Amino acid sequence: MNWMAPFHWVFFLTTLCCFLRGLNASDGDADPLYKSCVDRCENTGCVGTRCFHHCKFSSDGKPIDGPWYMHEPLYLRWKQWDCRTDCRYYCMLSREEERMKLGDKPVKYHGKWPFQRVYGIQEPVAVALSALNLAVQFHGWVSFFILVYYKLPLRPNKKTYYEFTGLWHIYGILSMNSWFWSAVFHSRDVELTEKLDCSSAVALLGFTLILAILRAFNLRDEPSRVMVAAPLMAFLTTHILFLNFYQLNYGWNMKVCLALAVSQLLIWAIWAGICHHPARLKLWVVVVGGGLAMLLEIYDFPPYMGYVDAHALWHAITIPLSYLWWSFIRDDAEFTTTSLTKKVK
Ligand SMILES: [Zn+2]
Repeated sequence: MNWMAPFHWVFFLTTLCCFLRGLNASDGDADPLYKSCVDRCENTGCVGTRCFHHCKFSSDGKPIDGPWYMHEPLYLRWKQWDCRTDCRYYCMLSREEERMKLGDKPVKYHGKWPFQRVYGIQEPVAVALSALNLAVQFHGWVSFFILVYYKLPLRPNKKTYYEFTGLWHIYGILSMNSWFWSAVFHSRDVELTEKLDCSSAVALLGFTLILAILRAFNLRDEPSRVMVAAPLMAFLTTHILFLNFYQLNYGWNMKVCLALAVSQLLIWAIWAGICHHPARLKLWVVVVGGGLAMLLEIYDFPPYMGYVDAHALWHAITIPLSYLWWSFIRDDAEFTTTSLTKKVK
């Protein structure tokens, strides 16, 4: 089954950023009962007995009461938008409750499963897991730092023997940044948080590709590193700018992420095979773990008890994988340093 492994890895990486759940129509929001509930709520400000104070608008969109500063257009728009999300949320809950009584399975609304909010957090489990991922990345990054600067010998000019130290530092910062925005995005998904989450994921994915090429081909001199990094960075910048300021195109973004993931996967896989790297087993475990994660994204299931869905489980799997990944990076630093210092002696 070894030939399958690369494909698992591909999907693992693409799930990182590319399964952006678009806000396209889903079964739930196509339901006429749900639609009429939202319409009614936006006019009356109530779903059943629950009413929202920020929904008090007359039919022409002006607030019924309130001081003059509440009449500001921006404030109005903001409140109306808030009113809409609350209406959608409570209409979804009441529809899901009715459907459950009839024995129906949960359906998606606006591209997302019906999640239970906790203290206003949309997907509390995904947020907690993103935070844990962030913690694991931080731990990995710090332990790598301690290893290369304090435990392993340094060159006479105080630089590390391992020539990829700086690159792994950037990787650590980019991945922590990515998990931070993932936590923000899962606590409240609006266009801005989605763009920030996606942009940081693309940046991370792109940078890991650059790193994969530099590490696998053992490029250590500045000119060849620039040769590899410059065109890729130019492309990544353009892509991120395109997503943010032109069009958040899910299909195109998916293709870009897939290409970035496929290429780095092939590089790591072939390199691990050819090089007989002492820590290649860890690399393969990450690949198999990624395979399991891929299955989760394929068998996308509704949230268990309204909390844990496939995506949240995927975020759970990345926790041990990230731990193992940093362990591989530390092994690589140690292995390279030992072989270099042996040569020096
Ligand atoms: Zn996520």
